[in-house]
Amino acid sequence: MEFDLIEILRGRCASSRADVRVGIGDDAAVLAPPMGHELVAATDTLIAGVHFPMSTQPEDIGWKSLAVNLSDLAAMGATPAWAMLALTLPSAEREFVERFADGFAALAAQHHVALIGGDTTHGPLAITVSVFGFVPPGQALLRSGARAGDLVFVTGTVGDAAAGLRFPFEGLFQNAASTEACDTLRARLDRPTPRIAAGVVLRGTASACIDVSDGLLADVGHLAYQSGVAIDISAPALPASPALLQAFDGRERLMLQATGGDDYELAFTLASAHENGVLRDLSKIGCGATRIGRVFEGAGVRLLDANGGEIALTRRGWDHFA
Ligand code: ADP
Ligand code: MG
Repeated sequence: MEFDLIEILRGRCASSRADVRVGIGDDAAVLAPPMGHELVAATDTLIAGVHFPMSTQPEDIGWKSLAVNLSDLAAMGATPAWAMLALTLPSAEREFVERFADGFAALAAQHHVALIGGDTTHGPLAITVSVFGFVPPGQALLRSGARAGDLVFVTGTVGDAAAGLRFPFEGLFQNAASTEACDTLRARLDRPTPRIAAGVVLRGTASACIDVSDGLLADVGHLAYQSGVAIDISAPALPASPALLQAFDGRERLMLQATGGDDYELAFTLASAHENGVLRDLSKIGCGATRIGRVFEGAGVRLLDANGGEIALTRRGWDHFA
C-alpha cells in the first residue's frame, strides 16, 4: 500500500533533471550539484489544523507545502532544484495522495523542481518538505546585512492570506466584500506564490532579505535583530491588494497587513543608490515592490503613522510557542 502511494508521488512529481543521477526508488538519492555553486537547503513542516485549515483541499495542501519551502529559497536568492517529502497520513487514501501530488506537481513544474525522495508514514496528517537550490558563491541573501541608511521594501501586497483565513467557507460573507474578493484572498492563503525570480534579481544587490511567513513586523523584526539595526515601517505605505481594500478597512486592515502571516512576499533592504535599478528589474519580471521603511542605528521595529507617531500593537505576528 505504502509503495502504491510512493508510486503515485513518483509518477507525478519526480520530473526528470540531468542532475538527479538516482531519484525515488533506492535507499537514497544521488545528486550532482553544479560545479562552482553553493547548495542552499531549507525544510518546513505543515500540520493539519495548525498551518492550514482542516477544510483545505488536498491539491492546495500539496501546493502550499512546496510553496512555503520554495519561499525560503527565494528569500536566500537561490534557484530551486530538488525537493524531498516526508508525508504522515491518517490513512492510505489513494485519492488524497493523487490530489496532493497534483497540487505539488503544478508548482514543482513551474520551477523545474524534481521530487527526489522522502518518507511515508502513518499518523495525524503532517507534511515535511525539504528543498535544495543553488546560488553563485557568496551571493546568498542573508537576514544579517541591513545597514543604517538602507531602505526597506516588500514585494507584492501584504495581509491577503490572513484576510483569507477569515473566509473559511465558500459563500459565507462577514462584510461587504464580493465573492470574487473573498475567493482572491482565500487563494492567497491556499496557493501562495514563492517569489523565486525576485530573489534572483535581489541576490548580489539587496543588503538583507527575509520572506514574510509569520507577519511583516515579526519578520522585519528578525531581519533587524540579525542585522543589529532598528527599522521604522510606515503604516500608510504598506501595499494592499484591491481585494483587501474591498474587504477590510481602518485598523482591521492595517493589523492584517502589519501582522498577518502566510503572505510569502519578500521583505528586503537596499542601499538607496540601488532603489531605481532594482525596482525596474523587478517590474521587468512582473513583480511589484513598495518602499515601506528605513533602517537606522539601534534595535527593534516601529510601525509609524502618517505623522511619524508610533502605532502601538498588541501582537506582531505568529509565534507557535507564544
Ligand atoms: P527505506 O525503507 O529504505 O527508507 P522507503 O520505503 O521509505 O525506503 O522509500 C523507498 C523510496 O521511496 C526511497 O527512494 C524514498 O526516498 C522514496 N519515498 C518514500 N516516501 C516518499 C515520499 N513521500 N515522497 C517521495 N519519495 C518517497
Ligand atoms: Mg524510509
